[in-house]
Amino acid sequence: SLTPNQVRDMFLYVGQKVVENKPFLTKIDSAIGDGDHGIGMSVGFTKAEENLKGKEFSNVNDVFKTVGMSMISSMGGASGVIFGTMFVGGVKKLEVKETLDLQLLAEIFEGALEAIKQRGKAEVRDKTMVDALQPAVYALKESVEKNFSLVEGLRKAEEGAHQGVENTKNYVAKFGRAKSLGERSLGHQDAGATTVWIIFKSMREWVE
Ligand code: ADP
Ligand code: MG
Ligand code: MG
Repeated sequence: SLTPNQVRDMFLYVGQKVVENKPFLTKIDSAIGDGDHGIGMSVGFTKAEENLKGKEFSNVNDVFKTVGMSMISSMGGASGVIFGTMFVGGVKKLEVKETLDLQLLAEIFEGALEAIKQRGKAEVRDKTMVDALQPAVYALKESVEKNFSLVEGLRKAEEGAHQGVENTKNYVAKFGRAKSLGERSLGHQDAGATTVWIIFKSMREWVE
């Protein structure tokens, strides 16, 4: 399991990876959206870095809150709220935790998924980040039941998210600018789902 400051360092690494992928995410969002997804995510994670770096954390909840609030305050728009909620939504009603293990991680992202669905109204097959987050959450929960280690659980979540990204190519967009393309959105992967996959992949890399 991880200490709060290790969770901080993990998300600093995740942010670095998302920022590195800015051109890739921009390219994906340009195909069927307005091309700003990489820029928005970079702004959000750069703000998170500012608020995490050099700060001591005594609980896991505050690390997640800091990342999420950084996104909500700096990114704006639908994706600011959606990705902000990915980090604040799961710890909102959680009691204060001083270590992060696989069970807690599963619980946090399950709460996040619920909160995102409530806010954004998207379900699986609508071609959004939910298509990647939901299988990742299922994989985390299944890994808890199988007594997997944190890194094993994260690898399963990464695989689930990646499958979710691939699935979005078969879906017609129901949200955002891509919605107006209708069937023309087929064959293209969703940008937000891709970011979810990068987030889980980077978490796994850091823990490994
Ligand atoms: P914008 O669409 O405002 O330009 P971004 O390009 O940053 O914002 O983000 C687009 C991504 O946000 C989409 O690829 C999708 O994954 C996600 N998204 C958009 N609307 C929703 C929603 N209602 N629920 C979940 N995710 C959503
Ligand atoms: Mg966009
Ligand atoms: Mg936009």
